[in-house]
Amino acid sequence: MKRKSIVKKKNFILILGILISAAFPLGVVATVLGAVNENTPIMVLGLVGLILSFFAIPFVWIAFGGLVTKSKIWYSIVKRGITDVNTLANIFNLQPQAVTNVIKNLISKNYLDYTLLYKKIESEIKQTNIKCFNCGAVLKENENEYFCEYCFSKFKKTQY
Ligand SMILES: [Zn+2]
Repeated sequence: MKRKSIVKKKNFILILGILISAAFPLGVVATVLGAVNENTPIMVLGLVGLILSFFAIPFVWIAFGGLVTKSKIWYSIVKRGITDVNTLANIFNLQPQAVTNVIKNLISKNYLDYTLLYKKIESEIKQTNIKCFNCGAVLKENENEYFCEYCFSKFKKTQY
């Protein structure tokens, strides 16, 4: 399955936000012009645009704000190679749990390859019988460490 681009998604929502935000004043103008000129279709069209955009504007911009944070975290992991959850949390002034949630979301929506977090290709990652100390999921293993793909805990092999 081809990986999706979080940056494209963010840009798409940005354009959508701009269009929907522009629909509001355009709707006001069309409503007024329609009323003044007794042109009912234009007035109705204007009202529909005005009402729909009024309700959609907050949702679109909230979604955009979330995508900005997600793209920044994605960029740090993929382009800058920062894979430690606590480091990412410090950079973005977020709780580690919030960063973990964003990473889980990016992986589940196919924006991010989880193997990047462990700097190993998938074929080099092995399943173990060891349970995660943090969440209880079965740990995976690469050359240097055991790791949990659910809560992103890492355990040096010397800890065992
Ligand atoms: Zn875990």
